[in-house]
Amino acid sequence: MKLPPLLILLLFFLKANAQNFEDITRYKVNYALATHDTEKLIAIRSFVNEGKKYLLLVNPETLNTKVDVAANYSLSNLALGNVQAIFRQSAYVKALEVALQNGSPLQNAGIDHAIPQEKGIALTIDLCPSHKPLDRIIFQSLINAFKNIQQPVPLAISVSGKWMLKHVDELNWLKSLVVQKELDITWVNHSYNHEVNKLPLTENFLLAKNTDLNVEVLENEKLMLKNGLSPSVFFRFPGLVSDQQIVAKIAAYGLIPIGSDAWLAKGQQPNAGSIVLIHGNGNEEIGVQDFIKLLKAKQVDVKNKQWLLFD
Ligand SMILES: [Zn+2]
Repeated sequence: MKLPPLLILLLFFLKANAQNFEDITRYKVNYALATHDTEKLIAIRSFVNEGKKYLLLVNPETLNTKVDVAANYSLSNLALGNVQAIFRQSAYVKALEVALQNGSPLQNAGIDHAIPQEKGIALTIDLCPSHKPLDRIIFQSLINAFKNIQQPVPLAISVSGKWMLKHVDELNWLKSLVVQKELDITWVNHSYNHEVNKLPLTENFLLAKNTDLNVEVLENEKLMLKNGLSPSVFFRFPGLVSDQQIVAKIAAYGLIPIGSDAWLAKGQQPNAGSIVLIHGNGNEEIGVQDFIKLLKAKQVDVKNKQWLLFD
């Protein structure tokens, strides 16, 4: 369905108006069991915006998140350990445990493949800090390839704070594709500064000295909320670089690190259930070209719904 531009603008304005948190204070990690009628959610953050208290809530079965007014829920505060005990059988706690079990590799820790097996792939696009324009062709190719097959097209975008600050128009363009139901975007925290230096990996990216995780995790979430993005429960390490200690710290923020078993620009081939990684920040032409080739190669499968994208 094509919407007239004015309507799109209006929808965009309404949505943006309802969801941009411009004046966040007291933003903190805050675990609570949040119940509303039969709905049982886990609050992982609380904050105040223009005098009203809000929560960032996780559905422990679907892993979907939403931001809602705290007063809508009856709350009992918990420690993370209690959350893990109460929701031991949930997809959320199981995913956190799998990620922790795979926390030791220096590169690509966390979850790098779908559980259970899926027919297609999960597509993740990283927006690391960059002066170059967004590779819009990735998104346009996806929308065209999946027209009348999978609409909106699901994908995850890992966003860094420093990219958001410099690319407001492009971020708004992505958001407009969500409003038009062309894309269904899961927003993944990719750290605020996304520091990269010339040192070995053990002292690089988030493993660099003087990394302040509260800034990298929480300030980035605040900036996402300010821009009208709802942070998901996922975290992607800059450079896919981490160690067991930092994986445990990220998990303590209630976040699930996701890696990739198919970083296309590195020549890794995707298979069923792969978490594919390409960069959309204008710095990875090979990965983008490979992805468009992949879409073309899978054209028949896409049409027969044998090759889909999943969340
Ligand atoms: Zn990155």
